[in-house]
Order: sequence, then structure tokens, then C-alpha cells
Amino acid sequence: MTGLTLTFLGTGTSVGVPMVGCRCETCTSDDPRDQRLRCSVLVESEGGSSWLIDAGPDLRQQCLREGITALDAVLITHPHADHVVGFDDLRRFTVGADETLPVYARPSCLEVLGKMFFYIFNGENRYPGYFKPEPVAVDGEFQLGGFEVVPVPVEHGKVECVGYLFRRGGEPLLAYIPDCKRISPEGMEALAGVDCLVIDALRRKPHPTHLSIDEALAVAGELSPGQTWLTHIAHEVLHARDGAGLPEGVQIAYDGLKLQL
Ligand SMILES: [Zn+2]
Ligand SMILES: [Zn+2]
Ligand SMILES: [Zn+2]
Repeated sequence: MTGLTLTFLGTGTSVGVPMVGCRCETCTSDDPRDQRLRCSVLVESEGGSSWLIDAGPDLRQQCLREGITALDAVLITHPHADHVVGFDDLRRFTVGADETLPVYARPSCLEVLGKMFFYIFNGENRYPGYFKPEPVAVDGEFQLGGFEVVPVPVEHGKVECVGYLFRRGGEPLLAYIPDCKRISPEGMEALAGVDCLVIDALRRKPHPTHLSIDEALAVAGELSPGQTWLTHIAHEVLHARDGAGLPEGVQIAYDGLKLQL
């Protein structure tokens, strides 16, 4: 036991599944595992801390579904719309006049957030209901409630993007890498021996900025984690069909899935 609980708030690619205007087999599937909100997870520690990774367009719905009423920090992987446009909805977590919420992100990501949500950051809004973030520029490992959190730089198109690795006492417990095409040798070294790997696996067909299922399996094969969960799934993937026949220890994640690590 690592003392962490992981809840998948969303496991879908940027447009979500079902996709607007699509009548394909997955988009019309009645398997609830084929309904995927935009990617985000909640990480909870046995010490009672709750950390959100990414704040996409479905954040409000995800918080209501999972009964999330308090957060201790928000970690952002990169500023693509499907990971940040729910940022304003974080206002419900800084209701009190003096309440703030730490937001961890790479400096380039904080810069984009500052442009997208200028009214949150420009200090002019004193209305108590507004979101009051406490931006923390991520530059290497940081501490969260007794865990070490290591940003793992990954290649994902033109945007600077990281995954997050949670360690305790140097032991790699959980890695969350929702958007990724390639992991550097240094990144792979940091991830070596991780117990639970959550990784981008968009679809079977290769994509320029996301790992395909086969590419994600190659990463998992190299790291051989205790368990691997595929996320950021597109509508080309039908859960029951494509989940069957994956190597042992590898499964497709789905919305609402909760793992006690
Ligand atoms: Zn994404
Ligand atoms: Zn479809
Ligand atoms: Zn992205």
C-alpha cells in the first residue's frame, strides 16, 4: 500500500467521448466505460490531502459526480484547452475571503494561464467569490503532504508538457502522464520501477502528438510497472473490444474508476 487513492475524473481525449456529431460504435455505445469526460484525476493521500491534476472543461461536473468539496492543491500538466479551461470553476475551492489554492505548473504554463484568465491573476478583482490561486512555478521536485512530486518533462507537440510522478521516501508510486508522444531517457530513468503508471494511449492508429496504444505498451514494457492504466482515449477505442487482449497488468481506465494504491 502506498497510501494514495487515485480517482479518474475523466479519461477522454480533448473533444470527449461521445464526440459531438458522431454516431460511431463507441459514441453510441451504452457501455458507461465508453463515456469519457476530459482528462483529469484526483489524488488523495491517507493523510487526508486532495490534489487535482488538470482542470478541464468538465471540471464542475466531475466535482459534483465525485463529491469533491475541498482541494489542497492543483497541478497542471500543460495549458491545452482540455486541461485548463475549467480553471475558473476552481473558485468554489477558495470561497473564504482569505482562502487561496496552490496551483503548481511550469512557468510557461502559468504564463498562458495568466493570459487566458487575466481577471483571476491581475489583482483587480476583490469580489470574495472569485478564484484566488496561489501560483507555484514548478522547477524540479517539490513536496506535497509527505510525498515528493517530480515533474517529468514529456514531448507533446509544440507545448511544454509534464507528467507528475509521486514518490515517497524516494520510492516511485504513481505516475500520471495524460498527454505525451515521447519520454526522454532522463524521464524514463525517473519513472523506472514505478508501481502504477497512468499513460496517454489515444487510439490504435499513430498520432503526431499522442502515444498510440502500441507506443504506450512499449513504454509500459520498458518500465514494467505493477499496473498500467491507459487514458486520454479517443472514440476509435471501444472499451470492451480494445481492452480485451491487452498484456497482463495493462487496462484501459474509465471515468469514475477509483484505485487504492
Ligand atoms: Zn489533452
Ligand atoms: Zn465516434
Ligand atoms: Zn495536450
